[in-house]
Amino acid sequence: MKLKRLKHARKVMGFYKNNFDFAPPIRVLIDGTFCKAALKFKINISEQLPKYLDCEVKQCTTQCVLAECEALGPLLYGPFKVLQQFHIQSCSHDTPIPASKCLLSMIKQQNKAKFYIATQDQELAERLRSRPGNPLLFIAYNAINLEAPAETSRKRAHKKVQSNMVPTDFHKEILDKMKTDVLGPATHVNKHRHKKVKGPNPLSCKKKKSKTGTGKSSIPTETKKVGRRKKKKPVQDKL
Ligand SMILES: [Zn+2]
Repeated sequence: MKLKRLKHARKVMGFYKNNFDFAPPIRVLIDGTFCKAALKFKINISEQLPKYLDCEVKQCTTQCVLAECEALGPLLYGPFKVLQQFHIQSCSHDTPIPASKCLLSMIKQQNKAKFYIATQDQELAERLRSRPGNPLLFIAYNAINLEAPAETSRKRAHKKVQSNMVPTDFHKEILDKMKTDVLGPATHVNKHRHKKVKGPNPLSCKKKKSKTGTGKSSIPTETKKVGRRKKKKPVQDKL
């Protein structure tokens, strides 16, 4: 189970590294709900997060998260004490706002600061999933877990791969040069092909001539010639 968890974490981290440029040290934004669950399952966040993610981790929170925990008093006293040990990321809220709104404002649209978000708040998690490039950590089965990338993230990554596969004008020029080096000028190849395409019509005439050459009787050939002339005349008149 432990190996599976670690392999899964590596795979997900690789996805965010390759597609959204996340790199160690990983900065994790932690809220009160995550801390509360950690305390419930006796998980030491500072010890377990770097072990699970297998890299240097910087635990962060915001002043608004602390203020919310403090306001809830004894309910979140434990989480408040744990969060106080973490780095306080400046959120530029002079008067505290709800923790979930503050964390969303830290992520903004593109998560340019490359935060992982550790929360048990399902509403917040759902809003983060609706935007690409937001790795989510949660606690379940007595352990920290990294959520598999949301559909929005996978779609963005897929688009990125597709756009990388479409050759640019620069690449097209190089490809054309390589083709002419290997196959010769493209125009010659096309000319030969055109000649072959035009070929069948004269060949069909030859076959008919050959039939007349072996000629069973002269009457049918004459009737054929007359037939052709008759067909051609109306076309010429129209032109
Ligand atoms: Zn704030």
